[in-house]
Amino acid sequence: GAAGAAGAGGEHPADQEPTRVPCFKVAMLGASGVGKTTLTYQFTTSEYICAYDTSLDEEFGQKTVSVLLDGQESDLEVVDHPAAEMSAEAFCATYNPDVFVVVYSVVERRTFQAAEDILLFLWKSDYMTTRGVVLVGNKADLERKREVSTSEGRRLANSCGCKFIETSSGLDHNVDELLVGLLAQVQLNPRREAL
Ligand code: GDP
Repeated sequence: GAAGAAGAGGEHPADQEPTRVPCFKVAMLGASGVGKTTLTYQFTTSEYICAYDTSLDEEFGQKTVSVLLDGQESDLEVVDHPAAEMSAEAFCATYNPDVFVVVYSVVERRTFQAAEDILLFLWKSDYMTTRGVVLVGNKADLERKREVSTSEGRRLANSCGCKFIETSSGLDHNVDELLVGLLAQVQLNPRREAL
């Protein structure tokens, strides 16, 4: 005999709407050693906007950060691109991020070139216009070893129409600003679900 499902009692009082927190996927792209992991970690310790780490996926190095900004709660699912195992193209197609954070180190010019290649890929694939993109020059604390100037970074970002910020994840400088900038990007994102 067929097992009849008993009437699911999923009622809740009309005045008690289920609260849905918008969740956005953030992809950390960039050469290895530029500070992606450190930046992601700093997001989780940001006191200014009450971010906290809610989960960790071992496989992808994925972290979910819950952010409360201006009374609006959002979840950011932050994933590092496992560059050694997967191309940026395959990663983006699989993971389908809402925002791309393209990180380079201001003390290593080759990482800036790698960032340029990634931006070019994002531009060619139409991600540049349909998703949020932020170019991040990290390790700004190492001023004396700097190989890439702030104006070069800004120029590259301007040339492809994305946001730009310099950070130091080591000193936790501008990391909150980056996080706020990411939220602004996803909230402007046309793909964003109306909730
Ligand atoms: P990833 O490979 O891009 O994830 O880079 P990591 O986050 O693992 O960082 C690589 C190395 O750079 C580590 O030794 C970090 O401590 C260091 N690092 C990361 N961010 C900064 C920074 O802003 N300033 C300095 N001086 N070192 C940093």
